[in-house]
Amino acid sequence: MENTNKGGVDLFRFGNLEKFDTIDHFITGRAGGFSKGPFASMNTGFHVGDNDWYVLQNRKKLASMLGVDLTGFTFASQTHSSNVTLVDQCKRGKGSTESETAIPNTDALITKTKGIFICIQVADCVPIILYDPENRAAAVIHAGWRGTLRKVTEATIRMMMQTFETHPSELVAGIGPSNGPCCYEVGEDVKNEALKSLGSIKDVIKPTKKKEKYIFDQWHANLLQLRYAGVKEKNIEIAGICSQCHSDNFYSSRKDNGITGRTTAGIMLK
Ligand SMILES: [Zn+2]
Repeated sequence: MENTNKGGVDLFRFGNLEKFDTIDHFITGRAGGFSKGPFASMNTGFHVGDNDWYVLQNRKKLASMLGVDLTGFTFASQTHSSNVTLVDQCKRGKGSTESETAIPNTDALITKTKGIFICIQVADCVPIILYDPENRAAAVIHAGWRGTLRKVTEATIRMMMQTFETHPSELVAGIGPSNGPCCYEVGEDVKNEALKSLGSIKDVIKPTKKKEKYIFDQWHANLLQLRYAGVKEKNIEIAGICSQCHSDNFYSSRKDNGITGRTTAGIMLK
């Protein structure tokens, strides 16, 4: 990923998506915002314990960096589901100025409507951005361990196929900064859930030296879903940035003991 720092605000972009002038996309960092303390400073999430006014100022600053107004963002109210929602003009601006109007109970947004940044938020969970250059359609996905095991990435591609006639072989995908295989330790419960959901957990759940503790490689698990759906390996970019190792640049719930801000990932069709 490349960081295009503008006015003190970090915006990270995937090289494979940045090539297209028909879209804009971004993943926020922590620099350049108004929030203080554990939320410092570019927290984009309401209801994480931060001052709402700071969050609004951060979002306004982000919008101006991206050349849109605040209603150019549409946010999801995420529930670790595999639910996918189509965003059209009627849903423009939902959740942009308060969380109450965010699109309920959904963890992936897809759109073919120009001029709307569809956005999801993470703090360690995996943000995934998809672009279909043939049909000019886009998706953004929130995949934590639950969403990953519920196969939200596969569900999103299926919905794009049904809604936009997307050919997965044409999709361009970015897997963003999140809990990496260096740090993401899980217990027996997650391992068992993974076995149940995935069948094979080879290269996804790995043993550690600790008893009943495992490493969950969420990047690989989502890579497998992309591949399985038919996305070409050469079209997939994994940022390879662990949010725990890089909690100075990205919000990390684990690193900050649950009290932290939110990173936003978004994509807009121009
Ligand atoms: Zn790490």
